[in-house]
Amino acid sequence: MDFDLTAEQREIQTLAREFANAEIEPHASEWDRAHGFPRELLAKLGDLGLMGVCVPEEYGGAGADFVSYVLVLEELSRADAGVGVTVAVHTSACTLPLLQFGTEEQRARFVPPLARGEGVGCFALTEPGAGSDAGALVTRADADGDGWHVSGAKQWITNAAFGGTVLLFARTDAETKSARGVSAFIVDTDQITITRTEEKLGLNSSVTNDIAIDTHIDGDRLIGDQNHGFRIAMATLDGGRIGIAAQAVGIAQAAYDVARRYAKEREAFGHPIADFQAIQHKLANMSMEIDAARLLTLRAAWLKKEGRPHTEAGAKAKLFASEMARRQTSEAIQVLGGYGYTKEFPVERYYRDAKITEIYEGTSEIQRLVIAREILGQRANAPAT
Ligand SMILES: Cc1cc2nc3c(=O)[nH]c(=O)nc-3n(C[C@H](O)[C@H](O)[C@H](O)COP(=O)(O)OP(=O)(O)OC[C@H]3O[C@@H](n4cnc5c(N)ncnc54)[C@H](O)[C@@H]3O)c2cc1C
Repeated sequence: MDFDLTAEQREIQTLAREFANAEIEPHASEWDRAHGFPRELLAKLGDLGLMGVCVPEEYGGAGADFVSYVLVLEELSRADAGVGVTVAVHTSACTLPLLQFGTEEQRARFVPPLARGEGVGCFALTEPGAGSDAGALVTRADADGDGWHVSGAKQWITNAAFGGTVLLFARTDAETKSARGVSAFIVDTDQITITRTEEKLGLNSSVTNDIAIDTHIDGDRLIGDQNHGFRIAMATLDGGRIGIAAQAVGIAQAAYDVARRYAKEREAFGHPIADFQAIQHKLANMSMEIDAARLLTLRAAWLKKEGRPHTEAGAKAKLFASEMARRQTSEAIQVLGGYGYTKEFPVERYYRDAKITEIYEGTSEIQRLVIAREILGQRANAPAT
């Protein structure tokens, strides 16, 4: 067993950390208030290869491995969780499934612009009536000449307003109401309409849109086999969850860094508060839980990199890391006392940002269901988004 990162993994981690420290973290509070970061940031990330970290070089990526990508997501999320999710959805939920499930022609056509950061990737599964129960989706794709007529509405689609490529799921078998009969399509963002930009508790620098679609798309936009798209959605989320676990670790690490520094500086009763055992225990718990979450995350990332089954490991990493981030960002506020509750320090933002990691790419309840199904050997038609 080797707990060391490779030289290449360390190099990419350092690159992401230095970029995040210089170009992201100093602006994160401002972007939180402004509800967005400048589009040019994505071009800079693209120039550094961070929009296609684990995409092979022949498809325009940096050619690094999945562990490197997860390390990048932790660093970006430590600086700004909204930037972290933008890159996570773009990569894990759009670029990588196109690589994995697309034909060679589709890969060559759609992946390089994404990997270079020229377009931004989206994943459109959720609908107003279909979240955890994604198999209940009602967006339709009806055969139409040489292609499909796609019509419906999707909800809370990260990145849709940026412009780029959408991996969209629609029902191709109108007779079937379950997960069977769903297919996956590649759609350009100019084929969709943004109907709403969501106001959120946190993660404000990222963009979350409702979208509508009512258009013809060509036959070569079908990804994988007709009526078997739900498997693509589930496989995508299996990998995507590892990225969300890394996001949660990054947010918690940021909160811990602030709390630890503050505890050594703030004085009460003639002592730095770090001298009080109650505060020491909080910091010890934070440090331990962040370590545990990071190890679970890196194990899951390593399994995926090795091409080994990672459903259970990814769900455990996401579940533990997200609940840990919610707990420990709250503890960080407690260490800072009243200052922690104000916008003078970033820990209130970390607390707001952490909450979403318990919800998207599968709620904590659904992660427990996925883990239970794996350990009990039940693979039947249970919901799993
Ligand atoms: C900021 C943000 C960004 C998002 N980005 C995207 C995106 O890019 N693409 C996309 O497709 N979706 C996206 N989503 C949607 C997200 O994945 C869903 O919100 C999530 O899957 C949960 O679905 P729901 O909100 O409909 O909750 P529901 O499914 O309605 O669940 C409500 C509650 O019931 C529980 N529940 C449901 N079913 C079960 C069950 N079988 N057993 C036990 N408990 C259950 C849930 O855990 C939850 O506590 C995003 C959401 C947000 C808020």
